Amino acid sequence: MATATIEATATAWCSGHQRYEPVGEFNPHPTRKTGLQSYCYAWGVAYQKRHMAKLSSRSRAELDAAIPKSKWCPGYGDIPGHIVEDARSGFSRSKYRADNCLGRCKECTRAQKAVREAAQCCFTKDRRHELMSTYGYVCFYCEGKATTLDHLQPVERGGKTCVANIVPACQSCNSSKKDRDIAVWLQHRPDLDSVWIEVQQYVLPECERGATN
Ligand SMILES: [Zn+2]
Ligand SMILES: [Zn+2]
Ligand SMILES: [Zn+2]
Ligand SMILES: [Zn+2]
Repeated sequence: MATATIEATATAWCSGHQRYEPVGEFNPHPTRKTGLQSYCYAWGVAYQKRHMAKLSSRSRAELDAAIPKSKWCPGYGDIPGHIVEDARSGFSRSKYRADNCLGRCKECTRAQKAVREAAQCCFTKDRRHELMSTYGYVCFYCEGKATTLDHLQPVERGGKTCVANIVPACQSCNSSKKDRDIAVWLQHRPDLDSVWIEVQQYVLPECERGATN
């Protein structure tokens, strides 16, 4: 069992730093034998930073050349995935992405913005640290190290940006869940099968506006 190995050793090999580090330094990984990512959390953050710096240091000409002719947009809400024939005009620029385009087209980005604005309740970004601290920076789903905040019920599924609907999550859980319904996502994650029961029993902080979520 993966858990037995982890408890017995209490350290794991970090492929980034090329050394053994306490298992607490690693994010969980659902399919790897060890149950942990191959590199520690700090290495992952540093790698991401270097990657971003490299992308953003490109010259104007390089950025311009990176824009593809046409580009796939994954869609948003009722808008299904679609090809945007003129990526240059259809997507906003993003120097942090390899193709210098945002992931969603302008139309879908507008739709997303409208949904997010409508979902705004009592939680704002300046309360990030406060909320993360309440949970001890532990992922609500897998109990790994939380580095992001997640809407328990996504705004696309009627969830509000409310203290009663925002929980800390590790990058791995957050990316795996995306905008899926919390119950649907957990059905696809047998490693987290006890979490749904906890989610239903868990007493989340109350919305300060008294709105129902
Ligand atoms: Zn490391
Ligand atoms: Zn689109
Ligand atoms: Zn997690
Ligand atoms: Zn609220």
